[in-house]
Amino acid sequence: MLFISQRAKNIAPSPIRKFESLISEIEKKGVKIHKLHIGNPDLTAPKEFFSAIKKYKNKQLAYAPSSGINEHLEAWIKYYSDFGIKLAKENILPTVGGSEAILFAIMAVADTEEEIIIFEPFFSSYKGFATMAGVKLIPIPLNYKKKSKPLSESFIQNKIAKKTKAIIIINPDNPTGKVWNKKELDLILKIAKKNNLFVIADETYREIVFDGKATSLLTKKNAWENVIVVDSISKRFSVPGARIGCVASFNKAIMRAVFKFATMRLSVATLEQIGAIPLLLNSYRYSQKIVAEYKKRRDVVVEILNDIPNIEYSMPQGAFYLIVKLPIKNVDDFIIFLLTKFRYKGATVMVTPMENFYMSENSGLNEIRIAYVLKLAELRKAMRIFKIGLKSYLHERQTTSNK
Ligand SMILES: *Cc1c(COP(=O)(O)O)cnc(C)c1O
Repeated sequence: MLFISQRAKNIAPSPIRKFESLISEIEKKGVKIHKLHIGNPDLTAPKEFFSAIKKYKNKQLAYAPSSGINEHLEAWIKYYSDFGIKLAKENILPTVGGSEAILFAIMAVADTEEEIIIFEPFFSSYKGFATMAGVKLIPIPLNYKKKSKPLSESFIQNKIAKKTKAIIIINPDNPTGKVWNKKELDLILKIAKKNNLFVIADETYREIVFDGKATSLLTKKNAWENVIVVDSISKRFSVPGARIGCVASFNKAIMRAVFKFATMRLSVATLEQIGAIPLLLNSYRYSQKIVAEYKKRRDVVVEILNDIPNIEYSMPQGAFYLIVKLPIKNVDDFIIFLLTKFRYKGATVMVTPMENFYMSENSGLNEIRIAYVLKLAELRKAMRIFKIGLKSYLHERQTTSNK
């Protein structure tokens, strides 16, 4: 008998991809599925990305330096300086998307069997990467609702053990849309400093905030040694296929460590690094446009949700997701209903089940995530279909349980 590793067995499949094969089967039959489940922005990528790549005249396509192409690094430095953050080249390392940055950060701070604190629900890749690294995630409920109690220092302190190495925060947050306020960030840094913990701050959605601004932890000079930012251009420039992100930190030991990891995978793709340069140099122009667009979309989603009885959601302040609590025991059953039974004029809608966004067992079973990554007209249609789909699911369930 051949046995695969425990790690491979333990890894949870991405909740976003869980229904992929069912989806493609149904699409082959000609059913239109409005996709609210993947955070794959539908917006056009900035044309400067493609024109920069077209200008590449070199006849060779060599490995880029492990530390990144010089002009690409300089573009990141300029990008951060627009937020008042002054990085030197040694404070930043380009990665294959934010995803690789997450893996590098986790592996740089914790050994196998050690622990990292994370607020749940959270972007589900963290679970998979922690499993790959053999690191244990310790969940703390995220206070993302208006009515949530404020973060409690003693509650967090109680979760910290000898093996704890870091705290992860995602700001603005996927999947809840929460934007962390200054007071909360200061509390996290205070706890981190007191307990000698790193803070891994995922700032992928930095610009996508609807009122005010998100505060980057790299602006917090009093905690520079503790902070590791993982970043990505995927969402803010609508180029998820470019696979460009970075790790940024003022901690020299961390940057040396992630550099060593980076030399193992040799380099980030050359052409995509080149394509990203004009975007990073002129980030405001593009990001300002898309923030206005996502805000309009959020308002459409919320407007229709307000019209649905017996659900709960929380108003997102940033990113492009929200989570909804449904009057349903197990949302997988509802999603399968939407995909296989329910049709509205030959169409249906797809949302993400929340279970895998939690560490704690039996959490999120009645919750879904909606990603508002469709144009306004289609989004409105998709949300109406969602509303009708939910109603007919509840109706059908009621009639079958009465039989
Ligand atoms: C999408 C996402 C990432 C990673 O995206 P990449 O495409 O790998 O850059 C990281 N963190 C969060 C919270 C995300 O939503």
